[in-house]
Amino acid sequence: MLPWATAAEAEAALGRAMTAAEALWFRWTAEASDYYLYCLNILFLLVVFTLAPLPVALLELRAPRAVGPYKLQPRVRLSRAEFIKCYGDVMRIFFLVIGPLQLVSYPAVKMVGIHTGLPLPSLGEMAAQLLVYFLVEDYLNYWIHRLLHGEWGYEKIHRIHHEYTAPIGFAAPYAHWAEVLILGIPSFAGPAIAPGHMITFWLWIILRQMEAIDTHSGFDFPFSLTKYIPFYGGAEYHDYHHYVGGQSQSNFASVFTYCDYLYGTDRVSFPLHCTKALFKISGSARFLI
Ligand SMILES: [Zn+2]
Ligand SMILES: [Zn+2]
Repeated sequence: MLPWATAAEAEAALGRAMTAAEALWFRWTAEASDYYLYCLNILFLLVVFTLAPLPVALLELRAPRAVGPYKLQPRVRLSRAEFIKCYGDVMRIFFLVIGPLQLVSYPAVKMVGIHTGLPLPSLGEMAAQLLVYFLVEDYLNYWIHRLLHGEWGYEKIHRIHHEYTAPIGFAAPYAHWAEVLILGIPSFAGPAIAPGHMITFWLWIILRQMEAIDTHSGFDFPFSLTKYIPFYGGAEYHDYHHYVGGQSQSNFASVFTYCDYLYGTDRVSFPLHCTKALFKISGSARFLI
């Protein structure tokens, strides 16, 4: 909750007039508790999990011929019932694990210094912090993911996420409850190292989930803007990891591929370009493992 009762008090404390964005933030959050603002994350996640995978799913179901050339594993076609089941499973995880985790993790958010006050961060500050969050999350996620591909971790936990050998956007958060909890650590590490404003934290959670949904979409569209992001793994990169499944010892990256390059697990960086053709020709690319 903001410590000022009026806009004039806020401007006196800032020593300048509020920007339009700050005035809007002041009006909207003057009476709102920090806990309430933090819990809006739950609503944002619900909207992202529901709406972000929808356009590609509808295209796949309603216009399979139009999007067929861009499908990474064209021989795999899920029915509408299977899409709905996947969404239902994810909602169960959402209401039983993800939502409650958000509700109880507020003390940690407060402790590391994520704040809701004024001034609002500049766009440059937000971009720099988001970059740090992505890089830190990528590094930790890489090692956790790699460990989960050990015999015990895969059989007991990570196998659930790999049930979709040809992933779809809705399946991005589909995982064992323990994996959801464990992967909360890398997601929170960046904001803990470089704490910022609640708006930056919201953006981080939304962008990270949208990235995961894009990566699991099962399609490689030529017009995707993510192709211009250096070292961005994308759907093709992660799709191959799902295709290989439990035996996979490559392409562990969640967002960027730098850890796979650094630690020598980017084995499909060259044949990756061939996999789509191989899927189409033989339905099998296992010899590339
Ligand atoms: Zn995996
Ligand atoms: Zn995955």
